[in-house]
Amino acid sequence: MAKSKALYQEVILDHNKKPRNYGKLADASHHAVGHNPLCGDRISVALNLEEALINGVAFEGESCAICKASASMMTTAIKGKSQQDAEVLIQEFLAMATGKLDLNVPNKIGRLAAVFAGVCDLPTRVKCAILPWHTLNAAFNSVDSTSTEAGADPMNKSTISV
Ligand code: ZN
Repeated sequence: MAKSKALYQEVILDHNKKPRNYGKLADASHHAVGHNPLCGDRISVALNLEEALINGVAFEGESCAICKASASMMTTAIKGKSQQDAEVLIQEFLAMATGKLDLNVPNKIGRLAAVFAGVCDLPTRVKCAILPWHTLNAAFNSVDSTSTEAGADPMNKSTISV
């Protein structure tokens, strides 16, 4: 437990200090803005999707460290992957965040689960970690903006929808 906590703090601090793929994306084909009213996180995710392959991805916005680190790690995890692979990661991240991911079954989320499992034990922060993935899902579905509250709340569903 102590080891997992140390890992999560170290990785989150690193990504918060040096977020990967932060900024605007030229030639974005898909874009969405996500808002987490509980914390005040507001981020935008832009994708360059070509023949269902994620050629480019970038994010920007105002958010807490957990949200920013989650977004940063998400962009590195999905860059160069297919939309289908990224959608599997979205589902696994949500399942992990809601305590439904069986870590004994092989999964694709791997290191992300190791880092964020600790965060997702904190009810007040879990939506900070989910927001980038929820926003990515909105971008895939050409939904301009989404929220972690009300009808779009990803925690109320077994799978993310927008
Ligand atoms: Zn937050």
